[in-house]
Amino acid sequence: MKRRILSGMRPTGSLHIGHLSVLQNWVVLQDEYECYFSIVDWHALTTGYEDKLDLKALSKEIALDWLSVGIDPQKSAVFIQSQVKEHAELHLLFSMFTPMSWLERVPTYKDQIQQLGEDGKDLHTYGFLGYPLLQAADILVYKASAVPVGEDQVPHIELSREIARRFNYLYSGVFPEPQALIGKVPLLPGVDGRKMSKSYNNAISLTASTDEIGFRVKQMITDPQRIRKDDPGHPEVCVVSKFHKIYSPDIDRIERDCKAGKIGCVACKKYLAENIDKVLAPYRERRKLWQEEGKVESVLQEGTEKARATASDTMNEVRKVMGLYGSR
Ligand code: SF4
Repeated sequence: MKRRILSGMRPTGSLHIGHLSVLQNWVVLQDEYECYFSIVDWHALTTGYEDKLDLKALSKEIALDWLSVGIDPQKSAVFIQSQVKEHAELHLLFSMFTPMSWLERVPTYKDQIQQLGEDGKDLHTYGFLGYPLLQAADILVYKASAVPVGEDQVPHIELSREIARRFNYLYSGVFPEPQALIGKVPLLPGVDGRKMSKSYNNAISLTASTDEIGFRVKQMITDPQRIRKDDPGHPEVCVVSKFHKIYSPDIDRIERDCKAGKIGCVACKKYLAENIDKVLAPYRERRKLWQEEGKVESVLQEGTEKARATASDTMNEVRKVMGLYGSR
């Protein structure tokens, strides 16, 4: 039997190429694992409760992004978190025995309160303190044995392991302890050199056309000391070079030519735009197929049914060992 994986993304806006390496990793994992990919709309509310986002529309959009990149509903369950109420029930039950100190010491807790506080968000809320616990419920309700994450998410997986241990100790051995599958996620800057973000208007969208890619790449900040085409360049300070590292197979040659003043920035950017377009073009084509009326909805419906069936089996065991009504 295949081992099981759970992963998810918040539906806070359409995806950009900064998300691509995570999705490409998911596509590969589908062959080795039984995958559950969740659009975590409740998590979006833990920080964006005032934003009045159209979470339904955004959730559909993100599902379309995933399918375009190659998430295959024949292999993986694609579903919306809030459609599987077992997540909420397990979160509630976990909250009964989780010490407050476990949540307060999650490293991102205080950092994010401060960071997002500077943007005017008040995160001194019950929901925000508890979101790593909701995440633990998201993972454990599927008895996932592994969770693909970046380095910064490892403490959250460690918390899920602690919650599984505590539950198993207090009641019965229902939950496996999930492992973190740490993936290397290259951090791509936005075209202006700041963090890539839709809100900074500095991202290349996954749906960008050939012309839009060319336009965005033209905006990229290059080596400011390079005035003439044959001036020796410093690729280490150039945004274009950071993208070449991911999208261009001959990065060594580009860096060499840049340092030797043998390639101009205009040509260098044109080459990058072509290479990014080669990657995104097949996704644009696949997207058109998934955009047909009702297709995404039916993927979400099937994914939700599969997710509910698995989550319901887990909750049956949980209720039984906790002495609650509702077990079969
Ligand atoms: S040649 Fe390319 S890598 Fe060098 S500074 Fe110009 S854009 Fe950047």
